[in-house]
Amino acid sequence: MSKVVLQNVTKKYSNNQTAVNNINLEVNDKEFIVLVGPSGCGKSTILRMIAGLEQVTEGKIYIDDKLVNHVPPKDRNIAMVFQNYALYPHMTVFENMAFGLTIRKLPKDEIKKRVTETAEILELQDLLSRKPKALSGGQRQRVALGRAIIRKPKVFLFDEPLSNLDAKLRVQMRTEISKLHQKLKTTMMYVTHDQTEAMTMGDRIVVINNGIIQQVDKPLKIYNNPANKFVAGFISNPPMNFIDGVISIEKRIVKFKSQHFTLNIGECGTEYLQELENQIVTLGIRPEDILVGNQAGDSHSADIELIEPLGGESLYYLHLNGVKLVVKSTVQIEKSEFKSVKISFKKDRIHIFYKDKPIC
Ligand code: ADP
Repeated sequence: MSKVVLQNVTKKYSNNQTAVNNINLEVNDKEFIVLVGPSGCGKSTILRMIAGLEQVTEGKIYIDDKLVNHVPPKDRNIAMVFQNYALYPHMTVFENMAFGLTIRKLPKDEIKKRVTETAEILELQDLLSRKPKALSGGQRQRVALGRAIIRKPKVFLFDEPLSNLDAKLRVQMRTEISKLHQKLKTTMMYVTHDQTEAMTMGDRIVVINNGIIQQVDKPLKIYNNPANKFVAGFISNPPMNFIDGVISIEKRIVKFKSQHFTLNIGECGTEYLQELENQIVTLGIRPEDILVGNQAGDSHSADIELIEPLGGESLYYLHLNGVKLVVKSTVQIEKSEFKSVKISFKKDRIHIFYKDKPIC
C-alpha cells in the first residue's frame, strides 16, 4: 500500500512568498493523480515536499500513514523524475539505470534482469552500451524514467518529465507512462502545465492556481462541472469562451443578455437563475459546444476572422457583434468561401458563473 496524504500543507520560501497555501489532498494507493496548473502555481513545490527535497513550513505529510515531515528523502522510498534529469555522463545507459541497484548491492543477475525489463519497456534495448552524450534528448529522458522504474519505489513523482521531448515522442511517452502505471500498479503523482496530459493520464486531476487547490476530481467531472471560472478556462484547449452579461427575466423566460447577443437559457437551473435577475454573470461556452451552420436552436451570424483547418475538425475565430469567440467544429468550410457563418450554442452545455462560481 502506498497512500500519500497532505494535511494543511503550506510552504513559504525565505522571501516569505507563499508558494503552497494550506493544501489538503489524499492520494489513494495505486492511483495516478495529476497536478495541473499554470507555471509558478506551486506544483513542483508540492512534489518536492513529498520527496523531502523541501521542508514543509506548516502542515503534515503522511506516506502510508507515517508522518514523514522529518524523514530524509532517501528513506521515503520515492522515485522522482524531473524535466531536467541528470544522468552520469561517464556511465553507459546500462550503468546509469543500474546505478541505484548497484549501490544497494543487489545480485548481478537481478540487476541485469531488471535493466533488461526496463529497457524493453522504454525501448532502450539497443542503446544500453551508449553514453548519455550519444543519446537524443528524448532517449536521455527515457533513461531517467528507467532509473526511477527500476528501483520499484512505493511512489513515483513526475515533474513535467515530458516537457523537453518533441510532440510525437511526448504523445508516445504519455501512453507509455499510462501503460506503465497499469502494469506497475504503483501510486504515481504527475505534475504538468498541460491540460491534455492531465485529462488523458490522470485517474484524478488536481487543479491548482496561486498555491491553492481549485478542484480535485476525475477528468470528465472537471471538464463537465468545473468548480469555478479558473478551472473552466484552464481545462480544455482552446479554453472556454467567456462573455459577461446580465440575467434578465422576460415573460417568465430566463435570458442571458450581453451587449453582443441575447440568449434564452430558461432550462438551465432556472430557479437559481431567477434569483440572479439583473445581476452581472459570465456565460461560459466551450469551443466544441458551439455549433456551426444551420443547426437547430437560436442562431447568430458571426463574422469569420480566421479558420484553422486541423483535418477532422477546424478552429473558427469569430466575431459576434464585438465579442471574440473560438469555435471547434467538424463542419468544413474553406477559408475564402464565406465571410460570416451561422452559429448556435448547445443549450445543455452553457455554463453560467456568478462571482466566479458556477450556477449551472
Ligand atoms: P510550478 O511547479 O507550478 O511552476 P513552483 O512550485 O516551482 O511552481 O513555484 C511556486 C512559486 O514558488 C513560484 O512563484 C516560484 O517562483 C516560487 N519558488 C519556487 N522555488 C523557490 C525558491 N527556492 N525560493 C523562492 N521562491 C521559490
